[in-house]
Amino acid sequence: MEHRPDIVAVMVGVAVEGPYSYRVPAGMSVSRGSIVLVPLGPRLVPGVVWGAPKDMVAHNRLRDIALAYELPPLSEELLKLVDWVARYTLAVPGQVLRAVLRSTEALDTPKPVIAFRRTGQEPDRMTPARLRVLDVLMDDMAWPKPALIEASGVSASVIEGLEKAGTIERIEMAAPPIVQQPDPDAAIAVLSEGQQMALDKILALDAQQFGVALLDGVTGGGKTEVFFEAVADTLRAGRQALILLPEIALTNTFINRFAARFGTRPAEWHSDMTPVQRAKVWRGVLDGTVRAVVGARSALFLPFRELGMLVLDEEHDGAYKQADGITYHARDMAVVRARLSHARVILSSATPSVESRNNANTGRYAHVLMTARYAEAAMPNITTIDMRIDGPEKGSWIAPGLAREVFGALDRGEQALLFLNRRGYAPLTLCRSCGHQYQCPDCSAWMVEHRFRGVLMCHHCGHEVRTPTVCGACGAADALVAVGPGIERVAEEAAARFPDARRVILSSDMGSNAQLKERVAEIERGDYDLIIGTQLVSKGHHFEKLTVVGVLDADLGLAHGDPRAAEKTFQILTQVAGRAGRATKSGKAFLQTYHPDHPVMRAMVSGDREAFYAHELAARESGGLPPFGRLAALIVSANEHDVAMGFAKKLLSAAPMAEGVRLFGPADAPIAMVRGRHRVRLLAQSGKDFDLSGYVRFWLGSADKVSGNLRVQVDIDPMSFM
Ligand SMILES: [Zn+2]
Ligand SMILES: [Zn+2]
Repeated sequence: MEHRPDIVAVMVGVAVEGPYSYRVPAGMSVSRGSIVLVPLGPRLVPGVVWGAPKDMVAHNRLRDIALAYELPPLSEELLKLVDWVARYTLAVPGQVLRAVLRSTEALDTPKPVIAFRRTGQEPDRMTPARLRVLDVLMDDMAWPKPALIEASGVSASVIEGLEKAGTIERIEMAAPPIVQQPDPDAAIAVLSEGQQMALDKILALDAQQFGVALLDGVTGGGKTEVFFEAVADTLRAGRQALILLPEIALTNTFINRFAARFGTRPAEWHSDMTPVQRAKVWRGVLDGTVRAVVGARSALFLPFRELGMLVLDEEHDGAYKQADGITYHARDMAVVRARLSHARVILSSATPSVESRNNANTGRYAHVLMTARYAEAAMPNITTIDMRIDGPEKGSWIAPGLAREVFGALDRGEQALLFLNRRGYAPLTLCRSCGHQYQCPDCSAWMVEHRFRGVLMCHHCGHEVRTPTVCGACGAADALVAVGPGIERVAEEAAARFPDARRVILSSDMGSNAQLKERVAEIERGDYDLIIGTQLVSKGHHFEKLTVVGVLDADLGLAHGDPRAAEKTFQILTQVAGRAGRATKSGKAFLQTYHPDHPVMRAMVSGDREAFYAHELAARESGGLPPFGRLAALIVSANEHDVAMGFAKKLLSAAPMAEGVRLFGPADAPIAMVRGRHRVRLLAQSGKDFDLSGYVRFWLGSADKVSGNLRVQVDIDPMSFM
């Protein structure tokens, strides 16, 4: 079909199967990647020119592109990434493009800044305040109004008075960049021998080609210094760098370290930013004035045009998987984006994902192993406490052996950490009188008591009620008992046992991000002796005085049917234990467990991580599980259980035959109800070289369409089996 240059396909940033055809009005010039505004129904929506239209609609029925933004076009690799992610995750391309066009404010030309400069004319009368303003303006530079007010210490009316008098004049200036350009040579790190070897191995990857390095080194081993030098190498080569962190909103430390290395703060990208900040970063990334970004997983969709390096710190972290909307895994998509951009990737972790370890073992990724801990500190000494023999008394959660070690650390003026990965006071509340157990009305989950806030809360949907004083079932007063420990309950026990210790609770529901950041900084300063924390404490902080770590429930999810439970447990235990003894003091970690003989516990105690990976990879291989096979979960949900189950059964019977594909279910999902919706799960498993995404797309395309309140959610490569 002949292509008419005045008709183009435009992908709109809304969840529709695009792209649509639009007419390019006379005088407008667009090309593939141009960002435009187009009419869609009654609205104008942003979109991107995707190329020639697929079909030619009668010319007079097409609508015109309303506006072409004055912005560089999106890069070819980013457009390909959108198509790739959509195809792989079964999202529609417009939905993925919406993740790219997240900052619509960024599309408009930024407003100029109003600034003032001297005219040379003397004022009719001089005052001390006016003199201060004119002193600041002595250098003949134009100053933005807020900066001028701050530098001269006068009120706005003084400035206005001087303007009226004709002594100063207002001009319009381009807005300053959101960040200064990082200087790759600002403070080049002095690396240890092990770090230098690691860096050399990373830099051996061709800077102009795609390549992945797994930077696999113990906690506190100085991996950050290594990848900062690799980022510097990329910046020197004139390319942009992106560093992804799993929990960026909580860490000032990382930003400060970046600033110390590169002489300026990086551009940031995460949920705590204002729309104006987002707009500036987005635009700067696109026009190339922003050279380095530190961000959360969604930064993967920023419009880089010269991306040369992607770093994923803590690459194993579950926060890289987006669970709703587009169910992508940022680690996998980072590798895809890097391949499209001919960029290098560094996956950094002390506990790499089994997938990445396998890619390193087979040589697909360069395996950069760092074994020596930075400076003098040794790896912590890890011991299990067998809860069947040496456990605490009924109703308490800290074993006597662990308590002794905590006392020891406190006596020596060091810090101790008690870790329990469960928020709230108690995971279950029941009535002693009638046995009633408090359950969320909308989910198949117990209500978790949060005594600190005086509520019972569902951790799946957020439903909350005030903690009742009488039983809702039998009316008995003061009969409710808390069953099992949450972090608040551990804190209560710690207060009773260690009354003289300065204690702090670190849990994600104990304050805003800003408050939590403040707590972390206080702990780093040594303001507390005893830290009682959830998973939040396991992430990247440097608590130099911390020498004793107690994990109160090391078994975590081992008992559930989650095929990733062993890996997740190993990772979190290693991360938490690795908090101990990070400076020059050696540390000790204690794991309270009912399964001291489990391969995870044995690997922890012996410090033999290779044994863990070997065991886990063998188990995955024999089960045909990732990375040796592929999984896709289909969650069918509806307001009624029968409807969900009925549709899932029909779906199963419509499944196309394909060699090597095994289907499981339908069965109620482990969490069978969430927000009042019943959930039924089907699982598809295939060999690793099979296009499971394509299979599921074909399957859903040939099955009945969903209607009413039915939903089918597809999760390719599910990380969680809830
Ligand atoms: Zn009762
Ligand atoms: Zn709920």
